[in-house]
Amino acid sequence: MDLNDIRENYKNFEDWKIEKIASEEAGSLRPEVLDILKAEIEKRNLNLNLINIVDSQTKELTESEFNEYCGILRNHPCPKCKSKTQKINATMVGRVVSMLIMTNYDKSLKVACSNCLDEMHSKANMKSALLGWWGIPWGPIQTIRSFIFNSSMKKNNRTEKPNEVFASFIISNIGIMEKAKTEPEKLTEFINRTNNTI
Ligand SMILES: [Zn+2]
Repeated sequence: MDLNDIRENYKNFEDWKIEKIASEEAGSLRPEVLDILKAEIEKRNLNLNLINIVDSQTKELTESEFNEYCGILRNHPCPKCKSKTQKINATMVGRVVSMLIMTNYDKSLKVACSNCLDEMHSKANMKSALLGWWGIPWGPIQTIRSFIFNSSMKKNNRTEKPNEVFASFIISNIGIMEKAKTEPEKLTEFINRTNNTI
């Protein structure tokens, strides 16, 4: 697609789509396309903070910015139970579902307070025990693998400092973290979307 086509496409996107690209995808756009995106934000009089959000994803992340984002996410209310008493952390949850002759083992990212993360691991284990084990031959094997995986991930749900999954969530979602400074509810929305994806 040449730049004129891209410009034409951006012109036709609705505001929400422009905002979504600005906060979630800007990091992967070429510089010429970033200019088109910024011009569109300015032309539509969208929140000019969006320009900062775009820029945050295209420049090198400093340690102090990273620490600032960590602090924002750590102290964010839990998107699941809404509580603020525990710090937010992140994990991967493994789950096995067998259907007819297929056994499907997937691992998905979850962000929440430590209690909710523990609960997500337990629920996934229960689900695998109900729906995963009976697929032959992979059901029982994958179910046991997922139990082992979940129990090792669970050990990092209550780390004093953010764990590695948490750090990689920050690094992959700089735009969302920058946006959270002024619109924290958008971070909650984004995490809920992430947690609900399988
Ligand atoms: Zn919670």
